[in-house]
Amino acid sequence: MLKIGITGNIGSGKTTVSKLFELIGIPVFYADEAAKNIMVTDEVLIAGVKQAFGNNAYFDDGTLNRKYIASIVFNDELRLTELNALVHPAVFRAFDNWITQFDNSVPYVLKEAAVLFESSSYKMCDKTIMVTAPLEMRIRRVMKRDNIIRDEILKREARQFTEEKKIQLADYIIKNDESELIIPQVLKLHQEFLSLNH
Ligand code: ATP
Repeated sequence: MLKIGITGNIGSGKTTVSKLFELIGIPVFYADEAAKNIMVTDEVLIAGVKQAFGNNAYFDDGTLNRKYIASIVFNDELRLTELNALVHPAVFRAFDNWITQFDNSVPYVLKEAAVLFESSSYKMCDKTIMVTAPLEMRIRRVMKRDNIIRDEILKREARQFTEEKKIQLADYIIKNDESELIIPQVLKLHQEFLSLNH
């Protein structure tokens, strides 16, 4: 079964595009959502986080003390790298586990991840899709969706690889700049992946 990675910078529409693939029957693994879940379910990860960041990383009821972790990694690149080195392999494990539920009736699956390239996760995918849109359009979308200020979006954008870099790394591009419809682009790629699978 083919594994297709899909990514895009903040506000590009990677989730919107992934939902379209879901509509035509393709299972999608949402890595960022999975990362949140495994922080409180993956015993190996929990032990690793406690060892690296102390028992304060979790409340007594087992929920994650996000504020505490954020306060440590926010302005400290090294500690953030340390956290990622724990979380990324755990997400890979979760994906490998998730994919076992599908048999050959599914031609391919998608792995949607904001940090597909940054986390090296793309190396475990057969093909990759990059969803693109101009920065100003992405900012406008996220300001509307999350009710946050421009500076906060720019900070998040700065923590990711640039669009240009990701475009070079990706096998396929979906342009979500509102000048081209995305449904035909999704259907075209779907046909491509079906043919690759045969
Ligand atoms: P993030 O990385 O921030 O999670 P994302 O890349 O997953 O973002 P989406 O959540 O899919 O992006 O899209 C961002 C916002 O833009 C959403 O509110 C979505 O409904 C809207 N949006 C996406 N594509 C379009 C489009 N073609 N036309 C209008 N709105 C769109």
